[in-house]
Amino acid sequence: MNSGKVTTDEERQRELFDELHEIVDRPIRLMVACGTQNRAILRYGIREKLPRYLDLVAGPGCSVCVMPAGHIDAFIKVALQPDVITAACDDLIRVPGSTESLESIMEKGAHVEIISAPMDALEIAVNEPDKIVVYPAVGFEATAPSVAETILEAARIGLDNFCVIPSIRLLPPTIDLLMHDPELNIQGLLCSDHINTISDTEAYTVLAKKHNLSCFIAGFEAVDILEGLVSLVKQIRNGESVFDDTSAFIYSSEEKKNARKMVAEVFFAVDTHWRGLGSIEQSGFVIRDELSLYDAVKRFNIRFSQGHEQCLCQCNAIISGRGLPPDCPAFGMACTPHNPIGPCMISDEGICSSYFKYNVDSRPNG
Ligand code: SF4
Repeated sequence: MNSGKVTTDEERQRELFDELHEIVDRPIRLMVACGTQNRAILRYGIREKLPRYLDLVAGPGCSVCVMPAGHIDAFIKVALQPDVITAACDDLIRVPGSTESLESIMEKGAHVEIISAPMDALEIAVNEPDKIVVYPAVGFEATAPSVAETILEAARIGLDNFCVIPSIRLLPPTIDLLMHDPELNIQGLLCSDHINTISDTEAYTVLAKKHNLSCFIAGFEAVDILEGLVSLVKQIRNGESVFDDTSAFIYSSEEKKNARKMVAEVFFAVDTHWRGLGSIEQSGFVIRDELSLYDAVKRFNIRFSQGHEQCLCQCNAIISGRGLPPDCPAFGMACTPHNPIGPCMISDEGICSSYFKYNVDSRPNG
């Protein structure tokens, strides 16, 4: 019965922590794949207050962090071509390839513009008719509708000096691959609302069944995350493996239908390379032949290689749930946000930069 008592956010958090301490009576390991949720967990100090036996590992949920060095090399090679303007997001330009980054080649005369949305790249192309504007489209499936919409708009207005390097990654095949590793021993997956944009929620239902995996979609506030953790622990204790999609109301089915239609019109899925994980079946998008004018891979004859990653860096282990930033000898020493070695320290979604910001920075003299 409702007692009429209003529970504040802080009280609710306390209740949820208490509940977690009560119900975690065995070692449980959960993966928090989303970079934004990992950042929120650190920002709210959730990690320190968890029961001892509840182990949270990170996953491949930062789209910039999972880009192999060889793909960054390809972005750089195209950016160095004459009459090219590369329009890229802020996080991406600092990510190192084998030897350079988009930021470092700006000093050598490459024209790189920082944008916040794909349509910004289109606008640059409209205003710079004598240049070719290349947009490296890095992101997960949630970003695919806006990239598809931009390409369709370019085709609609007949713009021929704009093209995209499709570098979108799809999470479900990668989660599937990781769950095959018995050493990881992940029992539950905390997912974010992001996946729900074009969400193939069915893919997660299949994953839950296939790997006996408990899944929960949560938001980004402390209470959302704690409720997700409580739900996952309860599922695991009850031997359930379901995909708990309580946030399905965020996007209407009409919005999802339209987004999926646009994506299918522009892209199809192919095997794609991920940093530290190799080639994963059907885990990325390429542009359909009908729209090849907007495909930078074809226009510039791009060949993606693996490239050379910094040997000190342990991003590969971290994005596959096999370690946390403090396990890396460079963390907070040779590698800081001011002098980053790997992508996990560069991107705001990167787990190393989140650890540094909310753990090291908050310590006295840290
Ligand atoms: S701390 Fe730096 S070097 Fe170590 S894993 Fe993270 S990004 Fe790589």
